[in-house]
Amino acid sequence: MIQIYNSQSRKKEEFVPLQAGKVGMYCCGPTVYDYFHIGNARPFIMFDVFRRYLESCGFEVTYVQNFTDVDDKMIDRARREGITVRELGDRFIAEYWRDANALGVRPATVHPRATEHIPQIIRMIQGLVDAGIAYEHKGSVYYHTPAFPEYGKLSGQNLEELESGARVDVDEEKRNPLDFALWKAEKPGEPSWDSPWGKGRPGWHIECSAMSMAYLGERFDIHCGGQDLLFPHHENEVAQSEGFTGHPFVNYWMHNGFLNIDNAKMSKSLGNFFTVRDILKEYEPEDVRMLMLSAHYRSPLNFSREMMAQARASLTRLYTALERVRELAQTCQMKDMAQADLDVLEQVEAARETFRRGMNNDFNTAEAMGALFDLAYLANTALSPDSARQACQALLKAMEDMAAIFGILTQSAQQVPEEVHTLAQQRVQARKNRDWAQSDALRAQIAQLGWLVEDTPQGQKLRRA
Ligand code: AMP
Ligand code: ZN
Repeated sequence: MIQIYNSQSRKKEEFVPLQAGKVGMYCCGPTVYDYFHIGNARPFIMFDVFRRYLESCGFEVTYVQNFTDVDDKMIDRARREGITVRELGDRFIAEYWRDANALGVRPATVHPRATEHIPQIIRMIQGLVDAGIAYEHKGSVYYHTPAFPEYGKLSGQNLEELESGARVDVDEEKRNPLDFALWKAEKPGEPSWDSPWGKGRPGWHIECSAMSMAYLGERFDIHCGGQDLLFPHHENEVAQSEGFTGHPFVNYWMHNGFLNIDNAKMSKSLGNFFTVRDILKEYEPEDVRMLMLSAHYRSPLNFSREMMAQARASLTRLYTALERVRELAQTCQMKDMAQADLDVLEQVEAARETFRRGMNNDFNTAEAMGALFDLAYLANTALSPDSARQACQALLKAMEDMAAIFGILTQSAQQVPEEVHTLAQQRVQARKNRDWAQSDALRAQIAQLGWLVEDTPQGQKLRRA
């Protein structure tokens, strides 16, 4: 049984999908005005892992992650660069793919762009106007929050509390300080589309209501995003969608905690961020995934070089064990299993159970990761060249299954970079020539590229440093 902490009820609940065997899942994606930073990478990586886990449990997952490709930040940046908002969006969507692919984040089922769903957005706004929940003023349309009595239910606040804390902007023409724009009347030089209220563009919140409905229907299972989106973005999505359909919108709301630096949220506006592009110049993509997986997704996670070094060290331990198991799974004999082999099988099953328990416990990857380390320990202590091949294979399969869900340990021994491979071949030749000085020099060059050379009775072996 999978349990999910639902931000709406503020407790863990058993996950029961609307349709047996199927999951509809929507995750708020990036605003494509710049490279994304490793704080943004946290939801992309974590929700990618949950999707993989759900699939491994046999669910057919329809996963939607949008691109916000029109808003004030997009318009500002396009203006500064002297290009259109469309061109800016195209450019940073392409950059998103480069970084997301590098991080091993699988493409979602669909990645809808806001600007390509204007008819769906207009239809929803019109529905809200017709229902008396939204009103037009000078070519803009606002959502009237008091018209949705449950406003505040997602973030657990009531309207009066919210109103007393709201900032009233004098030049805004809203009936209530909490009302928010669904449609913004055209301003000179901004991109705009025709609508029943004149030319304009959508507000931010409405795009996620309209696009989730377009691909997942009026009601779906899981909606996720960073904790900063809970209010007002997701609160507004609930108000829009439920105001429009008259029935519940999302069953489970999941929010990831922040990736922090020195205990402050990493964000573009604070200037304390590292883009994924820059981080990957210094670190391996799997180091970043490992860092994220080492904490439960709802906990705050501090980014530091020490944490990255720890992630690397953990991966090295896992890679070393995996390599050993791979080799034994090929070289050990198929034979009747001895007690030691049966014990291995039993412990492999126990580790699989630990993994499932961790993931079923609100996707606690930190807990589930413990199981992979249990297997690594088992590989190092309980297997030997005398083990039965069946036991080695069972252990190998369990490690590979867990690694596939985490999206780590993807570099097989064959994936030694070309440059390292060439140097290693030269070293074999140097040793044949008994040119030890050259052999050592090559070893040092290989080490500089992050690989270690070991000389074993079976010949030279390479492993990542
Ligand atoms: P944005 O492009 O700013 O809308 O952000 C894309 C996603 O990243 C959203 O789900 C945000 O909530 C999330 N996010 C932004 N900053 C952080 C952070 N420092 N830690 C974790 N998630 C973040
Ligand atoms: Zn959204």
